[in-house]
Amino acid sequence: MIVLKFGGTSVGNAENIKKVATIVNDSKEAKIVVLSAVSGTTNTLIQINNYIYTDQKDKVNNIIDELQQSYHQLIDELFCSDFYQLKALTFINNQFDKLRGHANNTPNNEKIILAQGEIIATHLFQFYQAELGHQSSLISALDFMSIDVNDEPDTNAIKTKLAVTLSKDNKSDTFITQGFICLNNKGEIDNLKRGGSDYSASLIGAAVGAKEIQIWTDIDGMHNNDPRFVENTFSLDEISFDEAAELAYFGAKILHPQSIIPAQKNNIPVLLKNTFNPKQKGTIIKNCSETENVRAIAAKDGIVAIKIKSYRMLMAYGFLKNIFEVFEKYQTAIDMITTSEIAVSLTIDNPKHLNKIIEELNLIGKVEHDTEMSIVCLAGNFSQSGKGISASVINCLKDIPIRMISYGGSNFNMSLLVATNDKAKALNLLNEGLFVNNKLQEV
Ligand code: ADP
Ligand code: ASP
Ligand code: MG
Repeated sequence: MIVLKFGGTSVGNAENIKKVATIVNDSKEAKIVVLSAVSGTTNTLIQINNYIYTDQKDKVNNIIDELQQSYHQLIDELFCSDFYQLKALTFINNQFDKLRGHANNTPNNEKIILAQGEIIATHLFQFYQAELGHQSSLISALDFMSIDVNDEPDTNAIKTKLAVTLSKDNKSDTFITQGFICLNNKGEIDNLKRGGSDYSASLIGAAVGAKEIQIWTDIDGMHNNDPRFVENTFSLDEISFDEAAELAYFGAKILHPQSIIPAQKNNIPVLLKNTFNPKQKGTIIKNCSETENVRAIAAKDGIVAIKIKSYRMLMAYGFLKNIFEVFEKYQTAIDMITTSEIAVSLTIDNPKHLNKIIEELNLIGKVEHDTEMSIVCLAGNFSQSGKGISASVINCLKDIPIRMISYGGSNFNMSLLVATNDKAKALNLLNEGLFVNNKLQEV
């Protein structure tokens, strides 16, 4: 069994959906196809929720009408036969009637509304497969994908429920399901957060013990740097699970931050491929040795840096424990941490409880914080063979103020905290210094 996940752009219009079908049908293995929503749909559904909260009923209805129209056009372009045109139209109109119902109901239907994108994409794809004459079965992610009370995937339940779901159908060896959506511990519709379809694919791959998880997207694999901010990036043939996990967590948008973990735990290779250039090799993520120096760079925005200076002017026993307890209390993860004798600096990416956290930290020490910061993460091999790498990195960034440096936490990562305003410059300078001019050789 293999898992193939296609992202929003890959199912973004009729022409692209046809490409996805070719890729799916060319592969002769038994497979589970995981689909995202058509690109733009989840953003529109978020906009609908925003209008609902701000009680702008006209805007809610207009935007739903526009979205429905866009699906009418997609259906017109995707299906050849009257039979499937009508089937798809009936489904879409019915689905949009339900959406209007959810939008105009008083209870909080936010997550149900957000789930519609993936539900629509998978149904349309299955109708298209049927029109092509390919046997496939649509399985609902809501029958097996679940998160627990801490919003973490319930891997045992997913495995058991998915096995039951698959066993109900012995006619098909192509299953189609939704990425992103799940049920929470109260049995309500929920999701795995933005970009979560990658995570769904990895969790499904782990649950069925897949031979390979393929993530099909709009770029030919993991690049050595963020192509949205840096020119002349290139795709990597292979990277290790640890490197991929660091890059995903620290902002490489091609992968959801947690998506590598289930595959890594089960040692299932993850292949990143380009839907629009399927002949390109892509990037394989597997158990392989890390490169001898920097493999790739990523950056994560929205970071808050917090400095706590001990009132006792000494790194007193229990000082760190007291600090960590505050973050634990507010369920806020710490990304980077550095210490001196008298102070601790750390970063968080979730500012939801920032005011309360600062209030409580003020009882422990003097607190300062900076917002609009970015973590620049370098993944590679920073063990002893990496002599000189850190010097090269700092040298590249000599004109940029660095707020924090984290090095040595693992052999695979070096992280630097810079102002978000300096992020693009930092990524470009590092690219030039480490990859284009290869300054590593000179140090
Ligand atoms: P999908 O909709 O298929 O999930 P995403 O937009 O989530 O696709 O992810 C693909 C995008 O990730 C690329 O188009 C690219 O702009 C961005 N990206 C950011 N960092 C990297 C990187 N290191 N390598 C490849 N792509 C990256
Ligand atoms: N449709 C969801 C999003 O836009 C999930 C995904 O695309 O992976 O975030
Ligand atoms: Mg994505």
